[in-house]
Amino acid sequence: MATPVYSRPVGKRYLGNTNEMEVHDLSNERSACQVGEIIAARHAVTFSPDTLQQARAERYDNCAHCIGGSTR
Ligand SMILES: [Zn+2]
Repeated sequence: MATPVYSRPVGKRYLGNTNEMEVHDLSNERSACQVGEIIAARHAVTFSPDTLQQARAERYDNCAHCIGGSTR
């Protein structure tokens, strides 16, 4: 399940961008991910469970900068 967040999540690893349908790994965040901008634009979601597998199941694609292996 994806839950909208309006500030930087604490204790979560993965953050989805509902606008681009991409998922970011906050443990490997790069400036190019623009996570601050995603949150400010209110496009951020977290996942439950907090796993890449869950994000992928909800059709979020891997960010090329912090995860890689995009499938599109
Ligand atoms: Zn990223």
